[in-house]
Amino acid sequence: MTSHLLPVFARIDLAFERGEGCWLVTTNGERYLDFGTGIAVNSLGHSHPHLVEKLTEQVGKLWHTSNLYKMPEGERLATRLCEASFADTVFFTNSGAEANECAIKIARKYHAANGAPERYRMITFEGAFHGRTLATLAATGQKKYLDGFGPVVEGFDQVPLGDVDAVKKAIGPETAAILIEPLQAEGGIRNVAPQFLKTLRQLCDQHGLLLICDEVQTGIGRSGEIFAYQRAGITPDIMTLAKGIGGGFPFGACLATTEAAKGMTPGTHGSTFAGNQLAMAAGNAVLDVVLAPGFLDKVRRTSLLLKQRLAEIKDRHAGVIEEVRGEGMLIGMRAAVPNGQLVDALRAEKLLTVAAGENVVRLLPPLIVGEEEIDQAVDMIDRACTRIERAQAA
Ligand SMILES: *Cc1c(COP(=O)(O)O)cnc(C)c1O
Repeated sequence: MTSHLLPVFARIDLAFERGEGCWLVTTNGERYLDFGTGIAVNSLGHSHPHLVEKLTEQVGKLWHTSNLYKMPEGERLATRLCEASFADTVFFTNSGAEANECAIKIARKYHAANGAPERYRMITFEGAFHGRTLATLAATGQKKYLDGFGPVVEGFDQVPLGDVDAVKKAIGPETAAILIEPLQAEGGIRNVAPQFLKTLRQLCDQHGLLLICDEVQTGIGRSGEIFAYQRAGITPDIMTLAKGIGGGFPFGACLATTEAAKGMTPGTHGSTFAGNQLAMAAGNAVLDVVLAPGFLDKVRRTSLLLKQRLAEIKDRHAGVIEEVRGEGMLIGMRAAVPNGQLVDALRAEKLLTVAAGENVVRLLPPLIVGEEEIDQAVDMIDRACTRIERAQAA
């Protein structure tokens, strides 16, 4: 059958009908263990009773009124996000890319408000992923995504990750900010040393730059902390969130300090849909669970268990898995075979994962994952590796 969807995705021939916790059920009734969570989106798994209850309640009351009016649910979510972070103010968006667009605008406007509109450039890092809009693509800076889409949006200077000298050299009279993912996710679960983040913070303070953390993938508990920047003991000036923030409801947020956001006066930014009542209900419901005492402790304990079990698998199947890395529920297995082959072999065992850069296979379980599902996943990975080794030997 001809598809009328724009063919920008090479879709896998699987369709799901329902989800229960860590499991997805296909239209044919087959069960898959979901360690992909729609690319780190279903942070609390599928059909979480608290999310279902809160969303259902909101669906019967009110969906959308626009940002022309006050919104108590949005005020409440913004207050909770600020209390849990460094920030004073929040702009809600519909996606991660839009959250980063907002961050870029806030940073440029900050310098304009300080009388330095020539400071608009941003330093970004090789291997980054910041989104698919024209400006966030320029920030991402990967040729394969930029090719054929006309002139690249001006103002982004990319340097190698972890290279302090390159960052220092890139800072000039036009630099406005440094934009970094505290852990590169799409790039292949590439860790960023806490010391490097500390150095960036110092360089920003020294040169009057804003530090922006893109936590679209790492935020809201995915790293094992509520926000991944906390692992480095620093605070950014601006932070972006999306993916897991609504547990599957699409929205994002850009958080900032009052100082960083001082250029953003009425009329300087906006969105028709963003921050509507359904999104805010989803966001508040996710925070009810993730901020509950002990929840993130359990995520960290389960993460440790998963990493230990994966290290055993890696030792047993060194010809298939070269390295295990990552934090919290953002774990990468660097493959010794093409990562797509490993993703396919895992799917054949009914385990869903997601490929990433540097030939990595990403494991992104729901934050609610338990020991039992970890055991099942590890058995599936073990079998998939054996299957690949047998095919190699044949
Ligand atoms: C996914 C992602 C984005 C883009 O988010 P969209 O919602 O797809 O626009 C931006 N930054 C990071 C770090 C991401 O992982």
